[in-house]
Amino acid sequence: MSKWQAEKAERNRQSLARLNRALPSIFPSAVLSWALGRPFVPPTPRLAVDSYWRAHPIRADRLARTLAARSGVPSGWTWKLSNNRQHGLPATFRTPPATYREHTYTLGPGFCCVCGQPVYRFGWHVDLWDGSANMNANWHCACVIAWQFWNAPSDYARLLRRLQARRCGQSGGRLWKSAEVDHRVPLFRVWSEHRETPWPELLDYWGLPNLQLINRDVHAAKCAIEARDRRAARLAPAT
Ligand SMILES: [Zn+2]
Repeated sequence: MSKWQAEKAERNRQSLARLNRALPSIFPSAVLSWALGRPFVPPTPRLAVDSYWRAHPIRADRLARTLAARSGVPSGWTWKLSNNRQHGLPATFRTPPATYREHTYTLGPGFCCVCGQPVYRFGWHVDLWDGSANMNANWHCACVIAWQFWNAPSDYARLLRRLQARRCGQSGGRLWKSAEVDHRVPLFRVWSEHRETPWPELLDYWGLPNLQLINRDVHAAKCAIEARDRRAARLAPAT
């Protein structure tokens, strides 16, 4: 065994001991088996949960939207933008609308600001421990990853490539290395034409249902058509 391998084995032995000490008798089994299979075992239950969701962004995306559907939308909420950060409103239509991040609708400690549902131990979304919500938390671990996925889908190009079996989402041709992440319905159009979609269905436009990886030339052509439509819409007489 090389020195490096010996160090790694020792580090894992210590991490595993720490994890076992901190592990409650009930713990999500999928997370535990994921953690134990890592080259470097996460040393705490919380890090194990983080690691699990980081590795499963598509699951996190779906879960966050499912949890948000459970919360529904507070009456009176509409999708608004603002440059004034104090309201907690997004400054641009590129940011997904997050009802419960807005100061008017925030639910306070123990509730997730992305989906509006209670946060339990280790940032988990189900109360497996018969306790109350974790008053120090206002994000689910899953929702943190979903939020990253919605805001920076380009970071997940490799994953989309695999999901699409290396085929261009638009042309069906083989995906090239330079392929780019695209919103099927562009976000400017979501803002201009689908703004009234009830939350949280609105979030589908940021999630997997509206994302595709497409070849760069196809993307450029799609963007050119979208820009032309946008110009035409601006010049069209108001009716
Ligand atoms: Zn959440």
